[in-house]
Amino acid sequence: MKGNKKIPGGMIPPGYRTAPKPRTLESQKGDFEKIQASLLYCNRCQRPMPVRERLLLVLPDGQLFEYRCQRCGNSVGERTEKNTKPVKIIL
Ligand SMILES: [Zn+2]
Repeated sequence: MKGNKKIPGGMIPPGYRTAPKPRTLESQKGDFEKIQASLLYCNRCQRPMPVRERLLLVLPDGQLFEYRCQRCGNSVGERTEKNTKPVKIIL
């Protein structure tokens, strides 16, 4: 038995930086996949909780996301995702 080179599915090519995130859907769903919310500290729950990401605002150069606790819905943080692609704004 020789040449048993089987590449496991979802193998990450070298040089590809990945953030520590739960591996759920490996299929390519676009750039939004890289935005994976994890645990954030919730003041109401007094402990780190899984959060849900919501699109809060669409900015000219990016998007503002808000993290809400999945349990109580408290806002626990936000982040801005900058557009990497140039946006064409037709006036
Ligand atoms: Zn909470």
